[in-house]
Amino acid sequence: MSAMSQTRTAAGPRTDVLLDVRGVRKVYEGRGRSVEAVRDLTFTVARGDLVCVVGPSGAGKTTLLKCIAGLLAPTSGEVVLEGESVDGPPPGMAVVFQEYGRSLFPWMTVRKNVELPLKQKKLPKARRAELVHQALSAVGLDDVHGAYPWQLSGGMQQRVAIARAIAYEPHILLMDEPFAAVDAQTRADLEDLVRSLWQRLGVTTLFVTHDIDEAVYLGQRVLVLSSSPTVVLDDVTIDLPAQRDQLTTRSSTRFTELRGHVFEQIQRAKQRSGASVVE
Ligand code: ADP
Ligand code: MG
Repeated sequence: MSAMSQTRTAAGPRTDVLLDVRGVRKVYEGRGRSVEAVRDLTFTVARGDLVCVVGPSGAGKTTLLKCIAGLLAPTSGEVVLEGESVDGPPPGMAVVFQEYGRSLFPWMTVRKNVELPLKQKKLPKARRAELVHQALSAVGLDDVHGAYPWQLSGGMQQRVAIARAIAYEPHILLMDEPFAAVDAQTRADLEDLVRSLWQRLGVTTLFVTHDIDEAVYLGQRVLVLSSSPTVVLDDVTIDLPAQRDQLTTRSSTRFTELRGHVFEQIQRAKQRSGASVVE
């Protein structure tokens, strides 16, 4: 409890650690075979930060996120959220997964889908209605409260999933490659939506992607993961202006430098791990 109140009262956002991932290692055991998905991940996320985690497919990003979300127990190491060790889904967290098709209940309207976690939170009806309305409005879906998810496009379904997450008013929002399955234009719109929601609501966000450009465009910080066995290669501060837009930001010199830097880290690590296999 004392650790929790300490983080709550810490003065600057830089020192106010919300999420502390300490030496997380995950080995999947099964059928006489073990897979070391994550070797050693250590980093912190400050309250109010927007951190992207980028790494190649199979690097263990989903594994990491599930450990943070309390859906999977690390083999060793620890995840601490707001001063409390995570050993099950923590109450102050919302997760948006890649597979929007499977994350919404098809038999419930959009409104009911967004409202469901609020019922579990035992909020009174009027407050639930208010939060649902605000969240759907914030993601640009004022007109579809009564629709069913399957009546909506993939991009709109993912907006519903984001609305559900923010309506819950989480202390931290985790997103696992949420836009990997939508078309390029929709993806750009959703990226801008994430940044504008983050700027407006100030919700601490951990966004996982395999896409280097997406990570640099979105993040205030980018954690670069190696391929498996996974470690943190670099922690890059993204010193791009706070106001970003798809055209200007992505064509700026600094953006090109930053993505080049991240790309190089990942390539070098691949060569190193390739070399160790040969040895
Ligand atoms: P990413 O999300 O970065 O693509 P994952 O976390 O899904 O990576 O997977 C990391 C590694 O762990 C991969 O080699 C994958 O095959 C393995 N893996 C993931 N889930 C399981 C599981 N339930 N059982 C065994 N191996 C798994
Ligand atoms: Mg994944």
